[in-house]
Amino acid sequence: MSVSPDLPAVTVLGLGPMGRSLAAAFLKAGLSTTVWNRTPGKDRELIARGAVGAGAAEEAVAASDVTVVCVVDYDAVDALVRAAPVSRVLKGRTLVNLTADTPARARDTAHWAAAHGIRYLDGAIMTPAPSIGTPEAVFLHSGPRSLYDEHRPVLEALGGTHTHLGEEIGRAATFDIALLDIFWTAMAGYAHAVAIARAEGVTAGELAPFAQGIGAILPPLFAGFARDADEGTYSGEINPITSAVSAMSHVVAVSESHGIDAAVMRAAEGMARRVVGLGHGTDGFIRVAEVLSRR
Ligand code: NDP
Repeated sequence: MSVSPDLPAVTVLGLGPMGRSLAAAFLKAGLSTTVWNRTPGKDRELIARGAVGAGAAEEAVAASDVTVVCVVDYDAVDALVRAAPVSRVLKGRTLVNLTADTPARARDTAHWAAAHGIRYLDGAIMTPAPSIGTPEAVFLHSGPRSLYDEHRPVLEALGGTHTHLGEEIGRAATFDIALLDIFWTAMAGYAHAVAIARAEGVTAGELAPFAQGIGAILPPLFAGFARDADEGTYSGEINPITSAVSAMSHVVAVSESHGIDAAVMRAAEGMARRVVGLGHGTDGFIRVAEVLSRR
């Protein structure tokens, strides 16, 4: 891929599956791309496609005004960018951290960056590595709006949808955590459902079309519940929480009759029963969020 002289240069630190996909997308978009990874050798394919392989992280950072870091977590980010030779070179440049971690770690990294004269944007990637460079990719960003606007051409070279969520640096990580909460509790529910179905002689394949149907019910429910949660209206006219408790208790009973661990559903049922116990049995399920938020 030939490098465009009109596009800025970019550095990618961290060449796990996601870092490699980010670097490959930058190369495909024609950006001069320098790469580095702690364990050598992971840059081979990227170099063959036109990337510059740096011998050290500080050398990689020195090659571009913008460095994108994407490693396993912020402990790894700290080990990498807070090393004196790297932080010295980062001074006056922009660091875009697309590593996943908590909002508190994002804020801490922003404080550290400001104290070291490093321009800092935080971000989260909501889609898997193969989506990068395609319209399916979803990126969330937070930090100074002017800095985000300045580096938009580089970020948008990654394809997909980019949303700037606000100047508060922890917002991208907050959205990431909330969305991961939805994803992994749903995945735990799905794995558990397959175990119950199997115990009753139903294959995952037989269940799949109906599982997809249940999944499709969720998006409109999320929209309606979001309005209820934000406005403090918890109408349970269609499906009161007492009805949810009853359905959940059936899942627990069937699981345990087969010796299948029902801890996840027991926890959900326990939450719902607590809400009923507080006198909200006729409310809709999202009342759970309000009760959980009480301190
Ligand atoms: P991993 O989460 O497995 O991270 C591997 C990378 O982290 C490697 O480059 C590894 O280097 C580096 N690393 C680990 N510890 C250190 C350290 N102490 N110092 C320096 N580098 C270190 O790989 P991914 O690429 O998949 O994920 C990167 C980030 O992207 C994660 O935060 C992940 O949650 C996020 N993400 C990933 C998605 C995916 O589909 N893979 C989807 C959405 C988000 P080394 O090779 O030397 O071990």
